[in-house]
Amino acid sequence: MSKEGDEREPEGSERRRRFEGIAASPGVAIGPAYVVDRHKIPVPRRSIDRTEADAEVHRFRKGLRDTQAQLEQIKARLPHGEHRQILKAQQLMLRDPDMATHVEQLIREEHLCAEWALSRVADEIRDTLQKADDQYFRERSSDMTFLAERVLLALRGEDPAEIDPPAGAVVVAHDLPPADTAGFARTEVVGMVTAIGGQTSHSAIVARSLEIPAVVGVDDIDQEVEDGDTLIVDAIHGVVVVRPSTEELEQWEEIRDRYERFEDRVQREHGLPASGRDGTHVTLRANVALEAELGSALFHGAEGVGLYRTEFMFMDREVPPSEEEHYRLAKNVLRRVAPYPVVFRTFDLGSDKPTRLMSWTERERNPAMGLRSLRLALREREMFLAQLRGLLRAAVHGPLRIMLPLVSGLGELRAAYDAVAEARRQLADARIAHAQVVPVGIMIEMPSAAIMADLLAPHVDFMSIGTNDLIQYTLAIDRDNDDVGYLYRPLHPSILRLIKGVAQAGREHGISVSLCGEMAADPRYTWVLAGLGVRELSMHPSAIPVIKNIIRGSDLAEMEALAQQVLEAPDVDEAERLLLAVMRERFPEHLQHGGGQPLHGEREAPP
Ligand code: PEP
Ligand code: MG
Repeated sequence: MSKEGDEREPEGSERRRRFEGIAASPGVAIGPAYVVDRHKIPVPRRSIDRTEADAEVHRFRKGLRDTQAQLEQIKARLPHGEHRQILKAQQLMLRDPDMATHVEQLIREEHLCAEWALSRVADEIRDTLQKADDQYFRERSSDMTFLAERVLLALRGEDPAEIDPPAGAVVVAHDLPPADTAGFARTEVVGMVTAIGGQTSHSAIVARSLEIPAVVGVDDIDQEVEDGDTLIVDAIHGVVVVRPSTEELEQWEEIRDRYERFEDRVQREHGLPASGRDGTHVTLRANVALEAELGSALFHGAEGVGLYRTEFMFMDREVPPSEEEHYRLAKNVLRRVAPYPVVFRTFDLGSDKPTRLMSWTERERNPAMGLRSLRLALREREMFLAQLRGLLRAAVHGPLRIMLPLVSGLGELRAAYDAVAEARRQLADARIAHAQVVPVGIMIEMPSAAIMADLLAPHVDFMSIGTNDLIQYTLAIDRDNDDVGYLYRPLHPSILRLIKGVAQAGREHGISVSLCGEMAADPRYTWVLAGLGVRELSMHPSAIPVIKNIIRGSDLAEMEALAQQVLEAPDVDEAERLLLAVMRERFPEHLQHGGGQPLHGEREAPP
């Protein structure tokens, strides 16, 4: 992915170099490098005697147990949250019985020593993962590398050295598995750079959750940097400068300070309403996948949760959550977010959100169009009913709303209502307290639903546009496929027309229309969305202050004028040009904070 951006000759005796990568967690950091040097662990290739097989299998199992125990210890030090979840997932990977059986087979049948057998199996798993179409699975191959190395060390009776960067350091590594990043919050690491990884790699996820600026996917960066080298991590433009000149340092110190001042300024408004100069209010809510994110949602001023992605409860486990678990989680979330509402989306599993509960996905040639989301819920009725009962019960404790994902039309909507009615009946028969009136809404994320929003609107309490999927299905672009990522263009005339139509249908039928795809978090689109009639946006919590600041500095007339202009553009290039000309001029700082993918052909140049 990366390339050296600057091969100019060194100034004086210093070699100076710039590298490009993926800006994975926004911000700018400057500090001394702390290079994590994890040498590849040599794998002994020793054949064992047949009589040693039992002992060797025993040694392998002990290695697995020791590694599990180490991971457990690290996990215990972490607060609940994504970081911890990732470690949990790695523990599950290590517990995979197929992997252990295969290693033990190689020990017994091919007489390989435990290390050799393990590294053969790990290589096979890694190969399979690397060939996966899905970027998520490709990135999981680094989990396998990490786990295999831990077990190899355990087999040698060694503990992996803990990495312990000093406060103020920029950590540089080939990869940063979550076990290595466990102590970062405490040591106040200011930046992270890794040689591998993408937006959804563990290092990127952890960096975002700790709000540490990070650039990932910078080829060979761990080879190019030495401990103590000064580094600039520009995670706005995706640039890393190694051993910068005085002039570069001054330039980036100014960028960093400006960025931080801006962040502070917009964050100070967190208690103020997201109302424009003319009083137009746009409700800003948070998208949340884990309870641990609620603190951030409230801190950044969310007026409730507009999308609670409940499917994360189903991941990394062998049995689906019970009614009681759904009830307890929802009750707790409502309590924390009160008095604001929480929109719980029923589980949206499948396709880009795989689960161990589903074996059929392996057979699907086209999972995005396969048995996923609401279709899956209607088929796995018991799993769906348990969730609905839990939510209906929790609704007595606060303003809970139920949202159905991936609804294609009225038939599916009726089938889902049928399930809601059955869940109610079951609770009534069992004399269990539950709310009598719970608003039920739908996500508009299929072209079919968007086109017939006027026919769906009379039957629902609210609608929420899921642009991540709506764009994928309308433009026929796999949302996780980098090769066609350049075609993923939210301002495509077809998308704008669909959004406008849904907003209008909501208005005409007196129901609220929200938008909860990534588009909502991108300051470039705020005016267009509000101008098209969307009055509720739901986004990842850290984006809320920037979007609120834009709304507070705008009035409806100018937002509608831009939306109309963009809507009339004959093609997406023209639409993007028109939009950027206005938004760059009005909100240059805000656009720097977008964190969105560059628009087609757009790359803001670093200094
Ligand atoms: C969407 O599709 O826009 C959405 C918000 O849902 P998800 O990203 O979880 O599929
Ligand atoms: Mg979706």
